[in-house]
Amino acid sequence: MTDAFRHPSDETLQRYASGGLRPGLALVVRVHLGGCPSCRAALRRFDAVGGALLDELPPARISPVLLEKIFARIDSGEAPQEARPAPVFTADGFALPAAMAGCRIGPWRFVHPKLRWARVEVPGAEADRVILLKIAAGFAAPAHSHRGLELTQVLAGGFTDGRAQYEPGDLIEADESLADHEPRVTGDEDCLCLAAVEKPLRIHSLLGRLFQPLMGI
Ligand SMILES: [Zn+2]
Repeated sequence: MTDAFRHPSDETLQRYASGGLRPGLALVVRVHLGGCPSCRAALRRFDAVGGALLDELPPARISPVLLEKIFARIDSGEAPQEARPAPVFTADGFALPAAMAGCRIGPWRFVHPKLRWARVEVPGAEADRVILLKIAAGFAAPAHSHRGLELTQVLAGGFTDGRAQYEPGDLIEADESLADHEPRVTGDEDCLCLAAVEKPLRIHSLLGRLFQPLMGI
């Protein structure tokens, strides 16, 4: 059963629902939700539970800070159920999901002839570590392990990391519990991914050591 690897964990969805994910990580989850009915349904269940808990609180118990957060989420239009799957703009020939509208995409940079990346600036959270990663068919990304949470959404092409075969629409969640892994692009098509990390990568291979300072993530 590899389907569990293709979606955010319940813990991550709950953090998303409560506004507890950094904006960069939340962007990747939002892109996934745009194309994943089962995660949207799970999120509605979490929202229902959260709403029931709020209903049980007497009004005086809701702090002004919490109210401010709730209004900020409403104002930002980031209600997860509003996510839509239709792509609205393209960068370098690829259609990007609607949830990325408003993000500034930096220039493509080469790390290797088969590996390019571009920084994604999330409005209001420009320092978050978010990138588009374009990996040519047949190339394997450097082996790395993780500090903190890493979310990768497949936008085009496909790859494997030894656990499962991933396709467009899949979200791969990794944290400290995932040992060194080396994603490898499968098929003939280039692979485009949107990735966000909570903390800098820990990279062990030679290319990884070259890759990390260049990427600055
Ligand atoms: Zn999902």
